[in-house]
Amino acid sequence: METAEGPHRVPAVDIIPLGGVGEFGMNMMLVACGDTAVLVDAGVMFPEPELFGVDLVIPDPTALEAYRGRIKALVLTHGHEDHIGGIAHVIGRVDGPVYGSRFTLALVAPKLEEHGVDIGDRLVAIAPRETVEIGPLRIEFLRVTHSMPDSMALAIHTPAGVVVHTGDFKIDLTPLDSNHFDLHRLAELGTAGVLALLSDSTNADRRGMSGSERSVIDGFEEIFSSATGKILVAAFSTSIYRLQLVVNLADQFDRKVAFVGRGMQHTSQIAERLGYLKMPPGVQIRDSDVRDFPAQDVVCLCTGSQGEALAALPRIAIDDHRQVKLAEGDTVVFSARSIPGNEKAIGRTMNHLAKRGVDLVTDSDKHVHVSGHGNEEELKFVLSLVRPRYFVPIHGEYRQLARHARLASTVCPETTVVMAQDGDVVRFDDEGGRVVDRVPAGRVLIDGTRTGEVADEVLRDRRHLAADGLIVAVVAINGQTGALEQPPALFARGLAVDAKHDTLLREAPDLLAREIGDASREERADPGLLKERVRVALQRQFKKRAGRRPLVLPIVMEV
Ligand SMILES: [Zn+2]
Ligand SMILES: [Zn+2]
Repeated sequence: METAEGPHRVPAVDIIPLGGVGEFGMNMMLVACGDTAVLVDAGVMFPEPELFGVDLVIPDPTALEAYRGRIKALVLTHGHEDHIGGIAHVIGRVDGPVYGSRFTLALVAPKLEEHGVDIGDRLVAIAPRETVEIGPLRIEFLRVTHSMPDSMALAIHTPAGVVVHTGDFKIDLTPLDSNHFDLHRLAELGTAGVLALLSDSTNADRRGMSGSERSVIDGFEEIFSSATGKILVAAFSTSIYRLQLVVNLADQFDRKVAFVGRGMQHTSQIAERLGYLKMPPGVQIRDSDVRDFPAQDVVCLCTGSQGEALAALPRIAIDDHRQVKLAEGDTVVFSARSIPGNEKAIGRTMNHLAKRGVDLVTDSDKHVHVSGHGNEEELKFVLSLVRPRYFVPIHGEYRQLARHARLASTVCPETTVVMAQDGDVVRFDDEGGRVVDRVPAGRVLIDGTRTGEVADEVLRDRRHLAADGLIVAVVAINGQTGALEQPPALFARGLAVDAKHDTLLREAPDLLAREIGDASREERADPGLLKERVRVALQRQFKKRAGRRPLVLPIVMEV
């Protein structure tokens, strides 16, 4: 618009993905306009197995520092860990409310409590089609279908235009709870004109449609009608529809349902209390009651579908669970996808289960799992409804983003695709939409036992520990003379038992005695230097003669 002062300037809107764009998990995005910013989701990523002792990975929040005092709200799309798991670690940088659906907030609250974060009445529940005003931004919540109830997309009305953020979604036309995807509103927005669409790319490389949650009923029905023993179903505790479906079948086939594993009990309780999981009277039993019922009358919903060492199913698999025991003829159903990186752990769990003589059912035997993310055709459908001016694929590794971008250029050739990655500042203003800048982005490793960040050297130590074990060398030195008081003692843990190691350990005290004898007087008088000498000597020997790099922990005592 031309005015006397010259061209009318539209305030710029910046979209800054800080996690989940270029990788799976830890979704977090900053939307900034003038002196107002809003954080969308604050998720975690589960660590790869090589990140020993790291419990969680969250997006690097450094970039948020530059927005201190301007982040007026945290807006949550839904309650999956990759969207809410990092809240306790970033909430200190947010000044206003946390908006989310009722179920999402019910999952967030205990998480904050667990971390000792009290944000009082800042949790504000929002229903679909409700709107909140945050400075120049008006955020509208739209219901989508996904693998958990109460999932939302956001229509962010900005001075530069409407930005639609889909959150995670699939298009389930027959959702179990009959809460339909608000495709109508999405189409309305599309008709009125959408500036930018940010859409879930998780399954962009899968053909066709993902299929309704109901599509697994047949597979489960077959299992229920043929199983003669207990049925165990391993699933994610947040897959409420899956739980509901198993509960319904249990009711139908006169079986009792027990929730087994902390996460399963915790989430099912919340879902039941809020009415998202409907339990027919008399169906539920406690896990401690399982043994009191004949095997053919019970179904257990268990945690541990990823082979997590401390979760229910892997423990049951090695007959190390207090309440639930397996017997030959029982059936175990894996009703979840294998998260990449977990295959080995899952395989081990399956081997143990097979040794117990149970029937294993996975998605390759029967259709017992369906993804919560839309495939190609569903993504195209959303694109065709919204027909945005700009399209930014989100939630995925680069290849899924690229694939989604290709789909977009087929569906809406007029649309400009902006390929962004974590840390890119995507700006929308008079000059259009493009990446204008970069902010710090990366990952922060969280060690849950100390709620601290894990430094690189700690990680390196843990890697050596896990791969090659630990050697503790105790050296007693005369504080006066610096001479050895007694032969060095060695303790090893986690070292492979073999002849080479035996010889090395047997020879090590003499080796250390020689090393210490060779050391200068000053070196011997300095426990720090001596420790280092002991460490290097032992490491060199193990490296040279056994090709191993155990973690060496020298202890020097002055007597
Ligand atoms: Zn999700
Ligand atoms: Zn997600």
